[in-house]
Amino acid sequence: MCGSSLSGGHCPFCLDTEALFWLARAPYMYLGGIRNLIHSFKYESYPMIGKWFAHAMADVIDSEPSFQDCDVITPVPLHFVRKRERGYNQSEIIARELSKLVGIDYAVLCKRHRHTKSQTHLNKQEREHNLDRAFSLCRGKDVANAKVLLIDDVFTTGTTVNKISELFLENGASSVSVLTAARAV
Ligand SMILES: [Zn+2]
Repeated sequence: MCGSSLSGGHCPFCLDTEALFWLARAPYMYLGGIRNLIHSFKYESYPMIGKWFAHAMADVIDSEPSFQDCDVITPVPLHFVRKRERGYNQSEIIARELSKLVGIDYAVLCKRHRHTKSQTHLNKQEREHNLDRAFSLCRGKDVANAKVLLIDDVFTTGTTVNKISELFLENGASSVSVLTAARAV
């Protein structure tokens, strides 16, 4: 379900997490050259890299019927302070390009209104707590009965996309699916 690559056995994420999204997929593993590219994309001001990833992600949509059914493509938001530091939200760049490629509407549906700590060194409970009430729907946006396709650069622990899925479902979305450029190993 979560899109991790398995060589047998059960996925620890899918066993441990009450995943609220329907499906998560990514065209690439977060390794080697892909990892370097995503780093340059996020931290070295190369927004064009996002358009390159969008093409690979469009191929995933072409091969996955439940993605093709989505009504709206939306990015995982950055807090405005971080967006100002970086100059752009990498997920917005991917999501906008993807919307053009596959012909599904693009909309920014939610915002991150807390400048959350980095998730990297937190355990699962701390990560969830760190994101409590971190996201809310943008004013005037409605997700009722919508099938939402949520876009991010990397699927790492799934905590962030799960929190946003919860927000959309609480506001009446009929489903949330997740597509990222890469999947952490
Ligand atoms: Zn899984």
